[in-house]
Amino acid sequence: MAMLYSQLVEVYEKLSRHSSKIEKTHILADFLKELAKHGKKEWIYLLRGRVVSDYDTREIGISDKLAVKAIAFSFGIDEKEIFEEYKKVGDLGEIAEHFSTRKKQVSLLKQRLTIERVFNELRKLLEVEGSGSISLKIEIISSLLSSAEQKEAKYLVRTLLGDLRVGVGENILRDAIVEAFFKEDKSAAELVARAYELANDFAQVFEAAKRGKAELEKIEITPGRPVKVMLPVKVTSVAEAFKVCGKPAEIEHKYDGFRVVISKDSRGELKLFTRRLEDVTKQFPDVCKAVEKLVKGKSFILDSEVVGYDKKTKRYKPFEAISQRIKRKYEIKKLVEELPVEVNVFDVLYYNGKSVMKEPFKKRRALLEKIVKSKPLELKLAENIITADERVAERFYRDVLRAGEEGVIFKNLEAPYTPGRRVGNMVKLKPVVKDLDLVIVGAEFGSGKRAGWLTSYILACRHNDKFLEVGKVSSGLKEKEGEGTTYEEMTRLLKPLVKRSDGKFVEVAPKLVVSVTYQNIQKSPAYTSGFALRFPRITMYRPDRNTSDIATLDDIKQAYLAQFKRKKTTR
Ligand code: ATP
Repeated sequence: MAMLYSQLVEVYEKLSRHSSKIEKTHILADFLKELAKHGKKEWIYLLRGRVVSDYDTREIGISDKLAVKAIAFSFGIDEKEIFEEYKKVGDLGEIAEHFSTRKKQVSLLKQRLTIERVFNELRKLLEVEGSGSISLKIEIISSLLSSAEQKEAKYLVRTLLGDLRVGVGENILRDAIVEAFFKEDKSAAELVARAYELANDFAQVFEAAKRGKAELEKIEITPGRPVKVMLPVKVTSVAEAFKVCGKPAEIEHKYDGFRVVISKDSRGELKLFTRRLEDVTKQFPDVCKAVEKLVKGKSFILDSEVVGYDKKTKRYKPFEAISQRIKRKYEIKKLVEELPVEVNVFDVLYYNGKSVMKEPFKKRRALLEKIVKSKPLELKLAENIITADERVAERFYRDVLRAGEEGVIFKNLEAPYTPGRRVGNMVKLKPVVKDLDLVIVGAEFGSGKRAGWLTSYILACRHNDKFLEVGKVSSGLKEKEGEGTTYEEMTRLLKPLVKRSDGKFVEVAPKLVVSVTYQNIQKSPAYTSGFALRFPRITMYRPDRNTSDIATLDDIKQAYLAQFKRKKTTR
């Protein structure tokens, strides 16, 4: 029995009616049971508005403009009329739903949309490239839209835009897999979580869960695929760092670069991934060369921090300088020359056909020492000491700061590698700076010299799966090309994310993360978080960060309250 797209649409509708996590989990679990019986495992991606696994960062991401064209074409409506509606409603999905009733009457025997057809056609959209791709895309979309019922049209369009709005995060979907196949079994919940962390692929986890716990246990980390990296918790003193990591602990430099997972599969193919699971192999031919030359092994997965340095002085440059290298897809050779980088390797997760994640850190480090030949300014092991002495640790920390580094990372010598988690197997210690990572949710066009650019940005923090505004920033970016992100560049990045425009103001999909400093935080009814940053300034654009990494409402509250504490102690 073929599964109909309307069944999935029914699930989307129910999900958007219920905001409670428990309800959502039930709804999803029921659907997963059906899918296990009658569907294909990959269709699970559709629940989160995707058609590929999470380790595949390609997105359908049709632009608003193209969606409008396709809606117009499918239902025989003028594009202008759709844009007018869009200004009022702000959701092209609802607009498609509305106009789909105007569809020229087609034969009554018209085929109903199956999930299979929708999935396959959407997958095709990912692959269409090059000249003629726009008309081919419109053709694919229209063939779906003209077969769609009203509600189906709504969710098709939302999926195309990458904005499903039904609130299914990774956690809820994981819980639903547990509920569908293991009821309330706590040990299974842990297994599903672990399997997902290693696979980053819901289809694979769903299929394994369907077959039972033993299959879940078989899921292992795979070279060639990105990995969710282990993250540190924050501490404020050496004593606290030892408390979390135990004594003795390894202490390493905290390099101010960007995280790169280096992966070599059994065929010898090298791949580089960011913390957001993006493949950046093409941008870093120099890193690949250094890995080939200086790391021994048939296959491996290494964790590292890549830092830019000044060609002349050989001193490290701040993250902002190297960030261009992640973003740039052309003139790579020139950039390699201008912005050389050094790879600092600090962990190994997989070696010669076997996962070593469960080995204690001291063994993994020992393995690294054997397989990595350090060559400063190309690729080397992260500088470290192992000590139980707080005075030695303090001295190391001080020296590292004097050398211009950001801080230090303490690591528990006995701990396994825990992907994607901040569980205290490592901690970061650095001087307190007022700096928050926030996401841009809106922007405004500038005037005068800055006309044509989006120059002020509405910032938001995260609260569960909502984004709450905390202020507006217009300083910190550069007007001219050089070191650092320019307003022009930010405008280019924001434009494809625009959801709605209103005069000079645009609302954008929450995607771009920036680090922001500020003078202080005030309570404010003007923003949905209830707080406002005073005198904010963007210190850098963070292409390496996801919205899941940004400051939460709790972080803002804490930073707000900390201001009063500080005042008391300095008085
Ligand atoms: P904050 O969020 O407090 O502004 P941050 O953005 O640097 O600081 P995190 O991202 O949590 O905070 O810090 C951990 C990051 O530090 C890692 O993701 C990694 O990119 C980087 N790092 C630098 N050196 C090391 C090292 N030796 N071991 C592990 N991570 C390191």
